[in-house]
Amino acid sequence: MARPEILFPLFANAITLPGIGPKSAQALERLGIGKVVDLLFHIPHGLIDRRQRDSLVGIDPGEVVTVAVIIGQHRRGRSETQPYRVVVEGGGLLFEVVYFRAKADWIERLLPQGERRVISGKVEFFDGRLQMTHPELVLTEADAKTMAPFEPVYPLTQGLAQRQLRKAVTGALGKAPDMPEWLRKDMLEQKAWPSWTDALRQIHEPQGAQTLAPGAPARARLAYDELLSHQLALMLARASMQRGKGQGNAGDGELRKRAATAFGFPPTGAQAKALEQIEADMRSALRMLRLLQGDVGSGKTWVALMALLIAVEAGGQGALMAPTEILARQHAKGLEPLAEAAGVAITLLTGRDKGAARREKLAAIAEGGTGIVIGTHALFQSSVAFHDLRLAVIDEQHRFGVRQRMELTAKAPAGCDVLVMTATPIPRTLALAGYGDLDISVLDEKPPGRQPIETRLISTERYLDVVERLGQAIARGDRAYWVCPLVEESDRSAMIAAEDRFRDLQTRFGAAAALVHGQMPPDEKDAAMARFQSGEAQILVATTVIEVGVDVPEATIMVIEQAEMFGLAQLHQLRGRVGRGAGRSSCLLMFSPPLGATARARLEMMRETEDGFRIAEEDLRLRGAGDVLGTAQSGLPRFKIADLERDTGLMEAARDDARLVMHSDPTLRGERGKALKTLLYLMDRDASIQLLKIG
Ligand code: ADP
Ligand code: MG
Repeated sequence: MARPEILFPLFANAITLPGIGPKSAQALERLGIGKVVDLLFHIPHGLIDRRQRDSLVGIDPGEVVTVAVIIGQHRRGRSETQPYRVVVEGGGLLFEVVYFRAKADWIERLLPQGERRVISGKVEFFDGRLQMTHPELVLTEADAKTMAPFEPVYPLTQGLAQRQLRKAVTGALGKAPDMPEWLRKDMLEQKAWPSWTDALRQIHEPQGAQTLAPGAPARARLAYDELLSHQLALMLARASMQRGKGQGNAGDGELRKRAATAFGFPPTGAQAKALEQIEADMRSALRMLRLLQGDVGSGKTWVALMALLIAVEAGGQGALMAPTEILARQHAKGLEPLAEAAGVAITLLTGRDKGAARREKLAAIAEGGTGIVIGTHALFQSSVAFHDLRLAVIDEQHRFGVRQRMELTAKAPAGCDVLVMTATPIPRTLALAGYGDLDISVLDEKPPGRQPIETRLISTERYLDVVERLGQAIARGDRAYWVCPLVEESDRSAMIAAEDRFRDLQTRFGAAAALVHGQMPPDEKDAAMARFQSGEAQILVATTVIEVGVDVPEATIMVIEQAEMFGLAQLHQLRGRVGRGAGRSSCLLMFSPPLGATARARLEMMRETEDGFRIAEEDLRLRGAGDVLGTAQSGLPRFKIADLERDTGLMEAARDDARLVMHSDPTLRGERGKALKTLLYLMDRDASIQLLKIG
């Protein structure tokens, strides 16, 4: 389906608007505004009150005031550089209007002595007297009557003036057609929301500060439109991904029983519940698209193994994809004994497998000789052909957006069930925004017997104390991680920092120190990890490579340098590398003073709690949504009007609404469905439109 005709004027280039030429169009581009519709969604961030005042007595300097005045004497400056002053009387005061470097005859025409004018501008005190320098507006009383009482103020960029932008927005408003109503009537009535066009008018022609308040009906409606279109797009994407599985994957539980016995611990309640949900999804003829969300150490691997075994019990294969090679190896190593107990062969396939060994593995995967395949993303990209892949488990993929996930799912053979696992606890609104296309299981309970981790903040100025205590710990046989930050998002600088730190610790502790970072050749990386795992090395200096999932239960100390540079979720991940064994663990967050208030609050939050969900909520509050998941890669949509932190209620409502639509009119053919399609086009939810054949 092509874009509905009714939207054509809105998708015209902004340059077609009054006041916008090639230069200002370029400036608009910098604000992300290319089309008329973008301008409509460019919401004012404030307004100027232009209502006339009767009295200026007690006015605060810096305020913008509008007042009718009688124009008095003109006082020219004695030289070019001196200001031109005009005495006026208004608002119960005598004060001066001041001009610098202005032509006298122009001012004489603008402010003729003895006449009345309405002037508007910022007032200040100079030498204890009120004055207004360069009024923004000078109007006759007749013109002043037609002036808008409130003037919207827009975010600007260089090369664009407020007045210009306002003019363009007014032009854009004139092009806004009456849309078919895509919201439910009962909802509009209950919330007293205006129509789409009226909402835009209210926002751009505000009638007071309350029009722009977060809870104002106009803003709420536009935010809801945005959230609804997003949720609907996700669900349409989901529906298209879910089609065509054909067969259900059910097993007799025999393999699972054997693996569980070998594991030796009963599952936690949360693990059992998540597995039940997965089992039901896999048994269904619709493709499973599920997110397993569980804090560090909540036991996601067990759930993944059981799901993989269901695939094998059903007569097929399961694949587990890890984000790094280290993790793929670790998964393989950890799962091997359990799979073996179940009598299921595991194959580890990474980019490092070459030649005959690789061919042999590929053959085993293609012929079905192996039940479980573990690897990195290369699993679904290269020449790997599965005999009968029934389930793809994607571990730790919180860095992947919806689109990447869809691509992955598309690469997995048609109909294969998909389980995405993330160790980043995500506040529910973010989960809905970023993962609304998935069902969600939560592991909100940890296996018993965990010791709390003692977390301390310490200034880098006390580096030598830290090293000394580290020395004592090592002498007792403890093992420690030492994490260096990622400076400026560059792997290279992180590597340099880590190498420097490593050299220093090596001088002090010799072979007890090992180094691992992302730029190392794979063999060296493995060797370092192995030395740390075996205890031959007791200090592992690392970049955030170790963030995701490394499991060395004997490690009990985590030192993080420049902790203030990390996100809370990341710190939480890193801290989760310790406290995995029987020993008491500690985490040292080193910071470079002075710490700002927010930075301190964030680090103190880490000290206060180990609850990943609480930390995530706090991170969201302190940093905003984009940063919590790492903006670019997070897959989080960038909303123009909605605010994920504030509009949680609207988000939930939009979710339910979209669900109902999908239930009653999944192809959007009904009356409301058609209107919703217009909304999808309007909001440029291209994922839903390009990827789905909903026309
Ligand atoms: P995650 O991947 O969620 O961070 P893991 O799957 O690595 O967590 O599990 C963390 C640790 O808890 C592992 O050592 C694992 O063997 C152990 N574990 C998992 N489930 C249980 C359970 N039900 N009872 C006891 N220990 C468990
Ligand atoms: Mg894990």
